Amino acid sequence: MMKIAILSQDGSLYSTQRLKEAGEVRGHEMRVIDYLRCYMNIAAHKPTVIYQGKPLEDFDAIIPRIGASKTFYGTAVVRQFQLMGVFSANDSQAISRSRDKLRCLQILSREGIGLPVTGFAHSTQDIDGLIDIVGGAPLVIKLLEGTQGIGVVLAETHQAARSVIEAFRGLDANILVQEFIKEAEGMDIRCFIIGDKVVASMKRQGAPGEFRSNLHRGGTAEKIKLTPEERSTAVRAVKAMGLRVAGVDLLRSNHGPVVMEVNSSPGLEGIEKATGVDVAGKIIEFLEKNAGLGKIRDRIQY
Ligand code: ADP
Repeated sequence: MMKIAILSQDGSLYSTQRLKEAGEVRGHEMRVIDYLRCYMNIAAHKPTVIYQGKPLEDFDAIIPRIGASKTFYGTAVVRQFQLMGVFSANDSQAISRSRDKLRCLQILSREGIGLPVTGFAHSTQDIDGLIDIVGGAPLVIKLLEGTQGIGVVLAETHQAARSVIEAFRGLDANILVQEFIKEAEGMDIRCFIIGDKVVASMKRQGAPGEFRSNLHRGGTAEKIKLTPEERSTAVRAVKAMGLRVAGVDLLRSNHGPVVMEVNSSPGLEGIEKATGVDVAGKIIEFLEKNAGLGKIRDRIQY
């Protein structure tokens, strides 16, 4: 029996509930902890996390479910638990790393993992150069801080691309510019990886006329069988980021699978419902096998 904390802002979320339930079914003591209400004692000798006036002690493992807008504080809480010797499903550092889309793509490119051709620039002096890097229009422009498909724009012409890039940069937003994978036809693949295995995968298809497949944008999801190349690409991407539990989003391009994103707190609802796989149970099993192994060093360097 283990004592496991789920770090989540909202105990009523599907993912949080499923993890709690899956742990309890296996006889573990499960606790949902709102990491934003944790406070920390950062002193010599004994790091502690305090919650509702009491130190959180004797946990064997934590499952971080850190919201995209709460990465800074959330990863500090995860780090504190790790300093206390508690096993985390994902390392604090790996979560921070994966939250930065540009950093993520840089690391994946170092590993030779298939990516859409992507350009990034700070200045708007060289917009034409940036557009050239990705092979011209049509192209995709993404806000670095966006999620759920918000801030992802398809520019059909060079002129449209220029205007959108200028507008975003005028607001001082960080953007990246990406080759448009037209042949994906509004479909992307979400792979759920635990350890070094893909445990479930689904395809998501955008609403008619929509190139974004996000379920939040009206897309639909269905189980899919991956090719061996897709499977190994997803596993390598997670490993490159130093994550252990993650979602990888792939597009099927003419030049093989390309990774769009690696997500350190992938949702369970879409994937469990589309595939029927008990993903929450598999995460708990992973903790059972790994929590006792002691510290695992992060060797990613970037
Ligand atoms: P978010 O993280 O906000 O979901 P994504 O980068 O995943 O943003 O993009 C949202 C959706 O837009 C993807 O799921 C995919 O369907 C589509 N998309 C994103 N980038 C490309 C691209 N380069 N080519 C074709 N479709 C893309």
